[in-house]
Amino acid sequence: MFISNLIAIFEKYFLYKAHTPEHQMDFLQHQLADIIDFATLRGILKYNQRGKLVHAPIALKPFSIPSSVLRRIQRQTPVFNQLMLEVSKDREFLLEHLIPVAQTDPFTQTLLSIQSNEVTQLYSMSIARNDYFLSPMPDETLQPKQVEFNTIATSFPFLSTQVCDLHQTLYKNMDIHRQLVPNDPLTRIVQAIAQAVRYYDYPGSQMLMVVQPEEQNIFDQRAIEYYLMRDHGILTLRLPLDVIADQGRIKNGHLMVDEKIIALTYFRSGYAPDDMNSEKSIRGRKLIESSSTIKVPDISMHLAGSKKIQQVLTQYEYLKRFVAGNESGEILSTFVGMHHLDEMVSVENKKCTVAELAIRFPQKYVLKPQREGGGNNFYGLEIPNVLESLTKDQRQAYILMEHIQGVEHHSVLLVNHQISEVSCVSEVGCYGIILADDDNILMNEDAGYLVRTKSSDQNEGGVCAGYACLNSLVFSD
Ligand code: ADP
Ligand code: MG
Repeated sequence: MFISNLIAIFEKYFLYKAHTPEHQMDFLQHQLADIIDFATLRGILKYNQRGKLVHAPIALKPFSIPSSVLRRIQRQTPVFNQLMLEVSKDREFLLEHLIPVAQTDPFTQTLLSIQSNEVTQLYSMSIARNDYFLSPMPDETLQPKQVEFNTIATSFPFLSTQVCDLHQTLYKNMDIHRQLVPNDPLTRIVQAIAQAVRYYDYPGSQMLMVVQPEEQNIFDQRAIEYYLMRDHGILTLRLPLDVIADQGRIKNGHLMVDEKIIALTYFRSGYAPDDMNSEKSIRGRKLIESSSTIKVPDISMHLAGSKKIQQVLTQYEYLKRFVAGNESGEILSTFVGMHHLDEMVSVENKKCTVAELAIRFPQKYVLKPQREGGGNNFYGLEIPNVLESLTKDQRQAYILMEHIQGVEHHSVLLVNHQISEVSCVSEVGCYGIILADDDNILMNEDAGYLVRTKSSDQNEGGVCAGYACLNSLVFSD
C-alpha cells in the first residue's frame, strides 16, 4: 500500500463518516498495518511491560482548538517559566509550605534534605510543561484550565513531534492538513540544551541523562541524545542515580562521571520515591546537586513544581509576590479551585472544611498526594475512604483540586494494534524552556505542544501507562 492510497482512505473516512460510520471503521481497520508501519518508521515506539517493542498509543483524529486559545496558552508559557524560576529561588517560601508536608511524606523530606542554601550552578535551566484541559463555558467558548505545571522529566518532546509529522502525512491532500498546527518541541529542546552546554564552556564536556533502569519510553529520550550528538557534537551518558553515586565525583566544582566533565544533567528520573529508594541513589542525587553542572531541574525547581506549591500559588496573595499585576489576572483565570484539606468553606450558610465537602461530593474533586509520574491521584468514590483514613498531620501532604471537565469530542484511538472510535477528552501541554544566569534571563520561550487524548471515562492521563494516546492539534477556525 502506497502512502497516497492510505491518504485516500483517510479522506474517505472523514468524508463519508457521517453517512456510513461502521463501513468506514471497517475500512480503516484493514489499513492498520500500514499506519503502524508509518508510526514505526518515525520511531513512535515504546517497550511494553514485558520488554517487547510496540507502537506507542496514537490518536488518529487530531484535536480541534480555536487559534485564540492556543495563542493564549502559548503566551502564558514564558510567564509561567519565569514564575517558577522565581519560586525556585525563594527558599523560605518553599520551606514554609513544604516542611508541614514533609512531616508525613518521606519523599518530600528527602528532597528537602538535598536542598541547600549554597548556590552551586552559574546557570538555572528548566524544561517544563504546562498542562491544560479546555473547559466548555456557558457561552460556548472554551477556557483553558490548568491541570499542572511539570518541572521535572517532562516527557514526549520526540514522540509528539513525530505524531504531528505522521498526521501531516496521513492527511496530506485533505483540508485538515492546512489546519494542522506544526509542532517540533524536540528540535527546540535539543537546541536549548546545546546552548546551555556552550554557556558552561568546558571543552569536551557532556550531558548526563539521569534515567530509570527499566524505562519503557526510551526512544523519547534516545532521540534527544541522538540529535544532541548529530547536530551539536555533544555526547550523552545515560545512568541511574545509584550508578552515578558509584562512578561520579566532584573535581574543582565540576561533576565528573566516567572521567568526563558533565556540563548539564537532565533528569528523566528522580521524581518518584522508587528512583531514590536507597541510600546510594540519594547520594547520587546529592552529588549532582552539590556540583556546578546545570541541573534540569535543580532540586528547588523540582520542589517548586510540587502539587502543594501549585495549590498555594492559586491564592492571589502568594501569586502576586512573584508575578506582576497585569499578568496575574490572566494566570488566575486559568486556575480551578485548589485547597488544603482543612480549608474552611461555606455551604448553604454553614461552614465546613473542604475535606468534608469532598466526602459529600467526591465527583467534584481530585485528591492529590505529592507525587509525579501518573497513577497516584484519587478520583470520585475513592476520595471519601482516603480522606477518612488520614490523620491531621497526614492531611498536610495532600491537596484537593476541583475536577476539570474537558470538552468532549470524538477521536479514533490506536492502542495495542486495535482501533476504536470513542468519546474523548484531550489534555494540551505547552513545553517551556527557560535558561538564566544570576542577573539575566538568557532564553525564555514556548517550545511546542503535547496533546494526550483519552476516553472520556478515564481519569488518569499517562501515555505509557496505557490511559492516553498521543495526538496533534488542528485549528478549528
Ligand atoms: P502527575 O503529576 O502524576 O501526572 P497530574 O496532577 O498531572 O499528576 O494528574 C495526572 C492526570 O490526572 C492528568 O494528566 C489528568 O488527566 C488527570 N487530572 C489531574 N488533575 C485533574 C483535574 N483537576 N481534573 C481532571 N483531571 C485531572
Ligand atoms: Mg506531573
